[in-house]
Amino acid sequence: MENDIERLLFIYALQNAVKHNSAPKSGTVIGTVLGKHPEFRSRAREIGPLAGKAVAQVAKMSAAERKSRLEEIAPELLAELTETHEHVRELPALEGAENGVVMRFAPNPSGPLHLGHARASILNDYYVKRYGGRYVLRVEDTDPKRVDPEAYGMVLEDVEWLGLGITDIVYQSDRLEIYYDLCRKLIELGGAYVCVCDSERFRELKLKGKPCPCRELEVEENLELWQQMLDGEFYEGDVTVRVKTDLAHPDPAMRDYSAMRIVNAPLHPRVDATVFPLMNFSVAVDDHLLGITHVIRGKDHIANTRRQRYIFDYFNWKPPVYRHYGRMGISGVVLSTSGMREGINSGLYTGWDDIHLGTMRAIARRGIEPEAVRNAMIDIGIGETDISFSWENLYSRNKELVDPRANRYFFVPDPVEVTVEGAPRHEAHAALHPNDPSRGVRTLIAEGAILLPRADIEGRSMVRLKDLYNIRIAWDGDTPRVSYAGDSLEEARSEKAPIIQWLPADAKLPCTLLRQDENLEGFCEPPVAGETGNVVQFERIGFARVDSVEGGRVSAYFAHR
Ligand code: GLU
Repeated sequence: MENDIERLLFIYALQNAVKHNSAPKSGTVIGTVLGKHPEFRSRAREIGPLAGKAVAQVAKMSAAERKSRLEEIAPELLAELTETHEHVRELPALEGAENGVVMRFAPNPSGPLHLGHARASILNDYYVKRYGGRYVLRVEDTDPKRVDPEAYGMVLEDVEWLGLGITDIVYQSDRLEIYYDLCRKLIELGGAYVCVCDSERFRELKLKGKPCPCRELEVEENLELWQQMLDGEFYEGDVTVRVKTDLAHPDPAMRDYSAMRIVNAPLHPRVDATVFPLMNFSVAVDDHLLGITHVIRGKDHIANTRRQRYIFDYFNWKPPVYRHYGRMGISGVVLSTSGMREGINSGLYTGWDDIHLGTMRAIARRGIEPEAVRNAMIDIGIGETDISFSWENLYSRNKELVDPRANRYFFVPDPVEVTVEGAPRHEAHAALHPNDPSRGVRTLIAEGAILLPRADIEGRSMVRLKDLYNIRIAWDGDTPRVSYAGDSLEEARSEKAPIIQWLPADAKLPCTLLRQDENLEGFCEPPVAGETGNVVQFERIGFARVDSVEGGRVSAYFAHR
């Protein structure tokens, strides 16, 4: 290996071969090397042949040789495979990405980000991280009717929470002059015209595949009308600039769609303007001007991709590579921004972080970590098949992260207070974490009255109290009479007694466990108050994020079991 680049190509070729247990792929190897070592991008031309050499060399080796060689010269790359490969699956390669990519996440600032945005933003982020390059956050705020001034800040917070590797931030409302300029150029090219037809009338003609009278105007006349639009001589709804497409297109929605319009009200929060581009125009222009190489978005944008193609063709621009992933049904939460907003305004939801909503902030409030959201979205991938979002998978991804960290505590919902007849005073030492003795124990003293979860003792004659002893229960109507039954684990087992949580009646904090279906009221161990902001495990109930302690009452949000 004479120089670094050859060595890098060789070790990444080895890694690629070991990972897939097959001959290495030159394109992937180049992509990995340039992604991790952007300093070599300027030498992209000499890399191709060198990669070919490295790949050929590795291809000749046996699987065992490849592995032992990688272990010898780059053990960390071998370790990386066993650490991450089992868990985070690799998504399909993107064509033409070997030399790095420029991608974008383009939300509308109409509310905070939700699970739908998470998928788009994480998949694009994944590829930028994989191939190296730039990741543009493009705030698409050219529809004053759908801009919520507070959403600008929320989107940035959510982007940060998700850990997206954004390198550039662009606001479309800062770029109106650019769109105006290109709109004029498109008119000059004969690719667009100003249409003053009544929208109903235009629709009728369009459905028949017929041109409206405006389509026949000369460029000069169109430019004059366009200037009048900019000069404020038209009012909202009177006029629109249309892209000339194909009036015979089988899909009427493709025919001469609008590119520019007037919006008089509401006023835009960031700019003093009344002429605004519609999505297909501003998206196509910006994808080109920002040098976007790859766009990953949902299938619901396929028609837009076709519409945008006309603009690329008129200007003779090279379009990015598009991938459209399938629809994702998400049950159990509200996702429509207008639905969420109405619910918040009417008091049905407490705010954008209400746990009945599918926003990032609602999910965060429940103790679900951004890394879990990322892993779950990568598990879903970019396939074209429509799927339903698996909450179970998100939960198991989250559990992998929080289980090793979460301290264990007892929470007794709907408690029954009892005195255990004949019981000796007993100090229970319960581990804060069963797999990590170094964290120590919680000490709970059972002397006198204790609290038991009603649902777990109802109808039972014996239960075992965790880390304490067995009790026998005699029922006097609805009232349990409880007596000490020794501490033999065998006996508890042979009587099929469940092991349940409990609390000393004199050492407890009121606690509400907030859940999507119904809240649980009860008591928890006092040290839970010191866990505000953390995820804990309420034994036998599940993981929860301790949200606040107010007036001596703990509020925690249920995450999952
Ligand atoms: N801002 C649009 C949206 O959120 C466009 C996104 C895109 O082109 O990918 O739907």
